[in-house]
Amino acid sequence: MPVLVMKFGGTSVATLDRIRRAAKRVGVEVAKGYDVIVIVSAMSGETNKLVGFVEETSPLFDAREYDAVVSSGENVTAGLMALTLQEMDVPARSWQGWQVPLVTTSQHSSARIVDIPTDNITRKFGEGMKVAVVAGFQGISPEGRITTLGRGGSDTTAVAFAAAFDAQRCDIYTDVDGVYTTDPRICDKARKLDKIAFEEMLELASLGAKVLQTRSVELAMRYKVKLRVLSSFEEQSDEAGTLVCDEEEIMELNVVSGVAHSRDEAKMTLVAVEDRPGIAAGIFTPLSEAGINVDMIVQNISDEGHTDMTFSCPVNQVARAEKALKAAMEAGSIAFSELVADTEVCKISVVGIGMRSHTGVAAKMFKVLSEEGINIKVITTSEIKISVLVERKYMELAVQALHHAFDLDKAS
Ligand code: ASP
Ligand code: MG
Repeated sequence: MPVLVMKFGGTSVATLDRIRRAAKRVGVEVAKGYDVIVIVSAMSGETNKLVGFVEETSPLFDAREYDAVVSSGENVTAGLMALTLQEMDVPARSWQGWQVPLVTTSQHSSARIVDIPTDNITRKFGEGMKVAVVAGFQGISPEGRITTLGRGGSDTTAVAFAAAFDAQRCDIYTDVDGVYTTDPRICDKARKLDKIAFEEMLELASLGAKVLQTRSVELAMRYKVKLRVLSSFEEQSDEAGTLVCDEEEIMELNVVSGVAHSRDEAKMTLVAVEDRPGIAAGIFTPLSEAGINVDMIVQNISDEGHTDMTFSCPVNQVARAEKALKAAMEAGSIAFSELVADTEVCKISVVGIGMRSHTGVAAKMFKVLSEEGINIKVITTSEIKISVLVERKYMELAVQALHHAFDLDKAS
């Protein structure tokens, strides 16, 4: 029998009623002849509650016990989903991570999947079981301790199962009906994409389109797992949602597939740093040690042995970054005349795999922004993405203008 993986996120299993709705969707796929592996998250809000319990009990908690506690939300939904399916006369049973066993590394709270043996579950399918309900987000370390895969990790569990069982598809049921060309709250012309390439999705996911855990997309790309993102709150057809797939499966590649934004960015400039070997390391090593998520980096042309170094980071890390850089200056490892922080910027990016074969995307982006009177402060590019920092007050305007200019607006 072909295998289908269906993953239900926290909002899709938030109440017994919703679990029933989800189970009905599973029943539809079983009736089509699939052996189904269902991956469940904890009921929405549950994992946060458990994390809170751990932090209140023990501020410097033992990560092994953290995992033992926070993984338990998924155990509840796995059991309830199996019971609901049984009530519908669908042969089902639940599996906790260790029972599979889903083997991970020992990095508690952010473990990586090492192996998913398929024999136990396959044997049960052979004996007439139709649905294996697996608790997402959790596994077992080589030391025999319970581990978790990091927040949002059940997406990764689902893709890993799809790869291990060579599933026809991995359907991710969530509270949005797919991946959009941009944030519909900012641009009412945002359109749902029918298909998007893995690489585009990766760029959009890490840019803040929070539909899928980034690691799950990386894994899907590596094993060519067809991923579909769809809503569990709407009646569904086989074409519903957005298919995240290999670019070869997309006939006509978009030059630009989406416009992403990240609101709370800051730009920091070190003025007149010495231009000599080791200076970049001297700046960015203390920043990384302080846990600063540096994003864009620009070094100016040198003038009389000195240069300006600019980088961006989340606005709530500015104080920490300043402290780290001033400490490095006092320790004598770097020198600069001034440290200037601009905390009123945002990042806007256009993403599209078609950029590889089309020229002029950057020029067009800059022209559109200039026509709106928006000044660009920093630019970075990659093969399939162009990002700029602009003043935060222009964020909505920039997204809307670019969305329109790159022909992404939905027909009205
Ligand atoms: N329940 C876990 C979390 O909220 C895992 C998941 O839902 O993906 O992070
Ligand atoms: Mg999620």
